[in-house]
Amino acid sequence: MSISRRGFLGSAIAASVGTGLNARGLNAQDKVKDDVPRPANPFGAGKRPIIICANNGVNYLDDAFAFLKNGGDTLDAALRVVKGPEDDPNDDSVGLGGLPNEEGVVELDACCMHGPTRRAGSVGGVRNIKNVSLVSKAVMEHTGHVMLVSEGAERFAVAVGFPRENLLTERSRKIWLLWKEYHSTDDWWGPGLADPQWKPPSPATSPQSEPQSDLWEQRIQRLEEHAARLGIEPEFRMAAIRRVLSPPTGTIHCSALNDKGEISGCTTTSGLAFKLPGRCGDSPIIGAGCYTDQDVGSAGATGSGEENIKVAGAHTIIENMRRGMPPLEAGLDALKRIVRNYNNDMSKLKFIDMTYYVLRKDGAYAGVSLWEGYSSTRAHKIAVHDGAKRSEVTVALFKGSSHEFPPFPVAMPKELTEDSVYVK
Ligand code: ASP
Repeated sequence: MSISRRGFLGSAIAASVGTGLNARGLNAQDKVKDDVPRPANPFGAGKRPIIICANNGVNYLDDAFAFLKNGGDTLDAALRVVKGPEDDPNDDSVGLGGLPNEEGVVELDACCMHGPTRRAGSVGGVRNIKNVSLVSKAVMEHTGHVMLVSEGAERFAVAVGFPRENLLTERSRKIWLLWKEYHSTDDWWGPGLADPQWKPPSPATSPQSEPQSDLWEQRIQRLEEHAARLGIEPEFRMAAIRRVLSPPTGTIHCSALNDKGEISGCTTTSGLAFKLPGRCGDSPIIGAGCYTDQDVGSAGATGSGEENIKVAGAHTIIENMRRGMPPLEAGLDALKRIVRNYNNDMSKLKFIDMTYYVLRKDGAYAGVSLWEGYSSTRAHKIAVHDGAKRSEVTVALFKGSSHEFPPFPVAMPKELTEDSVYVK
């Protein structure tokens, strides 16, 4: 379905704030309703100091806020938030334990901007170093460059004192192996002909075959057997299978503003699970995954990196605010540019997931997303601490949730959409 430009502009706001999602979550193809009122100020008036971040940073906000309130630097406060998930081996979206590339190697991206000194640092495709957000700060502080990538970035990190370590946890390695073997009917990965459990792939189970729900049972059963053989814990098997069928992205952005009006931001990620080696998304790109301007504010992104790079999302948002748009409108405008890049083609946009976190210099903020949630009923959220810590539902451009990519021939079975598949 495509919608007219006039209809789109008038109806885009799904106004999900405070309402959450309906029980089933709408499909991306569902009609976007006209005349849905936009909440006047869904996120409240600005307060300083304040920290905003992607919701996966919520557990680290208390410590960072106390640090900021006691006079800590704004960038150091933001880095305290993102370092938490980077250090957590069970968080497979960033840092240690991040899901690897298609060769089974964890490659991390990060960037930061320090508002008060108007400096930036960035690293892309870094292996063997856990806290790439801190490495991006080291690039900013210890070099005349802004961005280092790959082997050079790793060698630099070691030179300035970061330890080399194996970032691939056993759990992430097993999920990668499950992914590799599941997709390997055409190569030499997976059990060979001589394996007693080898079964010829039936045409009916190929991904191109006609949608039939009983195929799901076969596929999941096959994956479960595989997962068991690889030693994936039973309670984590469905979560692993979900990651194999729909490789996740995972990122954390954080922006921090102190009572003097100083502002900084940073973003860190392991990117897209099973990506091509060397792939960099938006997270290390200054102006896409993060942008901070001391005169205006700070913004960052999580979601489809390729789409965000093309609209220079974080920079677009800051420039929108510089021209007077409030944070909510500024963020929604960046989302509309993604929609424009696809000529409003909902059959493609339904596979795109994007969330922006926006903080203006006066403390006004917004969380906006293309869809209300990803993969069924999980709403997109922004975490905030301005003296009170909370998670808030973002304002969505479209009602409903994005669809998994690669596309599924039939609705995902319930056991793969339950909340438990997202837990660490
Ligand atoms: N934006 C990140 C990337 O494309 C992924 C994410 O936000 O989860 O690398």
